[in-house]
Amino acid sequence: MDQETRPCVICGNWKMYKTIEEALAFIEKIKPLSEQTPAKVMLAVPYTAIAASAEKAAGSHIVIGAQNMNDASLGAFTGEVAAVMLAEAGAGFVLLGHSERRKIFGETNEFINRKIERAIASSLKFILCIGETFEERESGKTEEVLRRQLSECFAGVKIDTAGCMIAYEPVWAIGTGRAATPEIAEGAHHFCRTVLAELFGEAQAETIPILYGGSVNAANAANFIVEKDIDGLLIGSASLEPESFAKIIVACQNRA
Ligand code: PEP
Repeated sequence: MDQETRPCVICGNWKMYKTIEEALAFIEKIKPLSEQTPAKVMLAVPYTAIAASAEKAAGSHIVIGAQNMNDASLGAFTGEVAAVMLAEAGAGFVLLGHSERRKIFGETNEFINRKIERAIASSLKFILCIGETFEERESGKTEEVLRRQLSECFAGVKIDTAGCMIAYEPVWAIGTGRAATPEIAEGAHHFCRTVLAELFGEAQAETIPILYGGSVNAANAANFIVEKDIDGLLIGSASLEPESFAKIIVACQNRA
């Protein structure tokens, strides 16, 4: 399997933005385009908007997901949300290990590893986010960091690759307006695929979509998506307006 057979995934991450009403208005606008494009269109929405968004997207090609979840099946964890609850609300996937979760909320690879196990046990697809900081890149540690994140997050995991996606998101490129160059991103993606092959075997690694994230916008999206190991995009700010998100989907049509 190669780029031509791995699905092209365009995923928005709304973070802590959008009320239910705003989410529904966005989905209404993007629905027709999602039906015309061969790309898989996904939206990681706030918890409160999952159920209504999933209902609104039903019958279309848009997949609604969550931005986080707890590793436990259920329990006394005030303020947390379980995989089974996300699935019941209509989430078709969950983001795990986003750099904001790691940096602001102190999530470790070990914690994310348990979340991956839980997502798999709950048949919930997931996008594992990884990436190096600016200091790590500057000191030549990018590959060491990516290898550690992948091997610790997947430690002991018997993966069903059908439900697994990776997002390479260099921390220095997220929300900064300073995207990686397509060459830097492709180099990191290729390296990640090599590590995935070590972990799961080459055939499995070839089936896992690897998305690039970090200051993607309508102007630069097409430059990333033509790269061999870049199978999709994870988009923060430029996914908040239907117009810019739509332009990104259109820019990726040639890859899909
Ligand atoms: C993100 O938060 O996953 C992200 C890629 O954000 P942005 O597109 O705003 O850099």
